[in-house]
Amino acid sequence: MVKIWSDAQIKTLRAQLLDWYDRMGRALPWRVRPEDRAKGQMPDPYAVWLSEIMLQQTTVPHAAPYWEKFLREFPKVTDLAQADREQVMVMWAGLGYYARARNLYKCGQVIADDYGGVFPQSEAELLRLPGIGPYTAAAIAGICFDEPTVVVDGNVERVISRMACVDVPLPKGKKEIKAVAAQIADPKRSGDYSQALMDLGATVCTPRSPKCHICVWADFCTAHKRGEEERYPKKLKKKPLPKRCGVVFVLRGAGHVLLRQRPDEGLLGGMVDFPGTEWTNSPPDSMLNYAPHSADWARAPQQVVHVFTHFELTLDIYTADVGDLDVLKMAASKADDLFIEAEAKLKTLALPSVMQKVWRSVLG
Ligand code: SF4
Repeated sequence: MVKIWSDAQIKTLRAQLLDWYDRMGRALPWRVRPEDRAKGQMPDPYAVWLSEIMLQQTTVPHAAPYWEKFLREFPKVTDLAQADREQVMVMWAGLGYYARARNLYKCGQVIADDYGGVFPQSEAELLRLPGIGPYTAAAIAGICFDEPTVVVDGNVERVISRMACVDVPLPKGKKEIKAVAAQIADPKRSGDYSQALMDLGATVCTPRSPKCHICVWADFCTAHKRGEEERYPKKLKKKPLPKRCGVVFVLRGAGHVLLRQRPDEGLLGGMVDFPGTEWTNSPPDSMLNYAPHSADWARAPQQVVHVFTHFELTLDIYTADVGDLDVLKMAASKADDLFIEAEAKLKTLALPSVMQKVWRSVLG
């Protein structure tokens, strides 16, 4: 790739960004501030790994309480590895993208069993672990061990694509953006530099109305010079999400409710839901054929709509109250994946967000 900036300009870009970060970088609970880093304090790779996995597709304010809860419950990766997977899934409930939780648990076990509880330090070695992709491997190796990696998340994509006016739309443009980012990345303070660039994207080079007037890179930014900041990053037009629909059956009795354990594989794998139909493009013709037990089912007036990454789901809810625990037990005995639980304990189960919505809708 053609060099965009001269060596002298790159030196200035690095110095400007790091100087800004030293003064203005965000104080995040999993982060070691540059002044402490300069004194030799390095971040705990376990804490950084947890934060990076949680922050995929999730905002900092939403992820932070989960991160704190996980570290309180499992202070070390070996504590996580020894926990029940069910407990991990329950603690993850509400964060979404549940494959992350399953991989988190698996990865914790590999680190505990195969690496003696010590995180590998190189990007290449980290990439071999379950659930750790190129971004996370580069982030952990850079932030925790100062390996000169190139970390490109959504914030960095935005800054770099604007700096260099990368015209190839995302996701194809990722390769070019990474190549441009690699040209400026600071090999000496790799961890601080990566975090600085992410912070610049998160707080200054924001998706709408970027604050170019306070941006330390404004003099070098091509999109800013052209007044075209918001044209970048270019993205392929998203197709509208396909729609799917389904039915859930909420069978209650004597303060208990019938639930289903989802299989490990597939969407919401390992989580708990209410029994129901498959989620398909068109509604099943005779919904009550799918009811887990015969009862006086009533259709709830409200549907629940939930947006997943690849489709939008609309659920019809049918409810019935059989008033008797034995009837619920009989219903649960019909399939291995069915079980009953006290309604008061629903909070302690790994109920995904869509099913939490269903339950809130049932309670009115
Ligand atoms: S000058 Fe504006 S568009 Fe360019 S990097 Fe800075 S904030 Fe982003």
